[in-house]
Amino acid sequence: MSAHDALPEVPQQLFIGGSWRDATGGGTFAVEDPASGDEIARVADATVEDGAAALDAAVAAQKDWAATPPRDRGEILRRAFEIVTERTDELATIMTLEMGKPLSESRAEIAYGAEFLRWFSEEAVRIAGRYSVAPNGATRLLTLKQPVGPVLAITPWNFPLAMGTRKIAPAIAAGCTIVVKPAGLTPLTMLWLAQVLKEAGLPDGVLNVVTTKSTGKVMGPLIADPRLRKLTFTGSTEVGRSLVEQSAQGLLRVSMELGGNAPFLVFDDADVDAAVDGAMLAKMRNIGEACTAANRFIVHESVAEEFSTKLTERMQGLKVGAGLEDGVDVGPLVEEAQRDKVAQLVADAIGKGATVRTGGVVPEGPGWFYPPTVLTDVPLEADLRTEEIFGPVAPVFTFTEEADAIAMANDTEYGLVAYAFTRDHARVIRVYEGLETGMVGINQGIVSNPAAPFGGVKASGFGREGGTEGIEEYLETKYVGLAF
Ligand code: NAD
Repeated sequence: MSAHDALPEVPQQLFIGGSWRDATGGGTFAVEDPASGDEIARVADATVEDGAAALDAAVAAQKDWAATPPRDRGEILRRAFEIVTERTDELATIMTLEMGKPLSESRAEIAYGAEFLRWFSEEAVRIAGRYSVAPNGATRLLTLKQPVGPVLAITPWNFPLAMGTRKIAPAIAAGCTIVVKPAGLTPLTMLWLAQVLKEAGLPDGVLNVVTTKSTGKVMGPLIADPRLRKLTFTGSTEVGRSLVEQSAQGLLRVSMELGGNAPFLVFDDADVDAAVDGAMLAKMRNIGEACTAANRFIVHESVAEEFSTKLTERMQGLKVGAGLEDGVDVGPLVEEAQRDKVAQLVADAIGKGATVRTGGVVPEGPGWFYPPTVLTDVPLEADLRTEEIFGPVAPVFTFTEEADAIAMANDTEYGLVAYAFTRDHARVIRVYEGLETGMVGINQGIVSNPAAPFGGVKASGFGREGGTEGIEEYLETKYVGLAF
């Protein structure tokens, strides 16, 4: 069976104002299976006019949606959670085919991504304000929360569902309408989700999905449109920077979930086996294509050899193959350019003196596969110390003093997440207080949790998604002064 035949029914048009429609002029672009390079679908290639129509629809729906009772907004999200969960296998096949990750990883993302729908269905009814007495007693101070207004969400390919629901669910819960532009490499998951939200009862125009290959051209006018009130972006720091510049003109509310360069610290008192378990998660979840992926293993010299040897054994035990095949742990990278970049970073490190413990060789044959790779003796000048690898490559650096480890961890423009393994309680506190990141995992290799605020500092962006903080990104605070 070809990958194309395995693809469940999924809409391939634009979703605007509650209807499915072709792009103006009928343009389409191909979606490919990274395991083979074969075309699996063609989706509508939106034009500037289509982008404008999507914003028109979001603007037209905004007033009624903001006035819809919070419980009703929440119930729609809750129904969508149920449908996504029930149809996990169908969506997992779509996701694996367009993105490459193994089915087990797709299912894990669906559980994670669906949870944002449930979490924010519960948050919708907890939007609250404040009432206080002015310090001089003369007036009363009332604060209320209102939806920001129409939102534009631009999402990446690496978690095609969760990076969408992390924005869509709080926007809907808050009473905002939304236009979503999913990544061109993985548009099918978002189109599938739009269909589900419609089935769950979402009114026309509240969610609009625009797929396009002319991203800058189609998104630019939306960002410049004064009716848009919020831009939320997940993707690379480079694109994020340019979007912040563009959004300055209209003084848009902006959230930026950008790149990472996560340090993974292993201290001499760590449980090394637990650290290796954590490393496998922090490195290999999503084939290393995660903003939270451990990018630099910074290991105390006294345990570095044991850690590297055990990590190498575990990496060698992983099965590489097409994501739809049984028992596969590591699928292909998303596209040729991504694999070339990973191969280049490894070649650079080897050229500068790193030792390859396993992997490091691009396999023959179709698909964008890259083997699980461990590098030791990695010099500080290696490019992968400062650049996001976004692939299954674990470089191990060493340290001797705690303060040096923290300094090494912070020696990056990024500040999304850091991991640390140690059994010393006082050290735990010094470490999490000293790390310049938005999130820290202590003795655990994964931090993503819909009930917690996800986000970064420095070049990893600003704004938080998930937790009780997540909905605030879609709410304005209004203050009313009440005189007697
Ligand atoms: P990308 O920046 O290339 O693309 C992200 C999205 O932006 C896509 O939908 C793309 O089409 C769109 N885009 C590209 N150019 C644009 C432009 N000029 N105007 C408007 N939109 C534009 O990133 P990617 O390769 O899809 O994703 C990988 C990156 O995302 C990595 O850097 C990763 O760290 C980051 N990421 C961050 C988080 C987080 O929460 N911090 C989560 C996942 C991924």
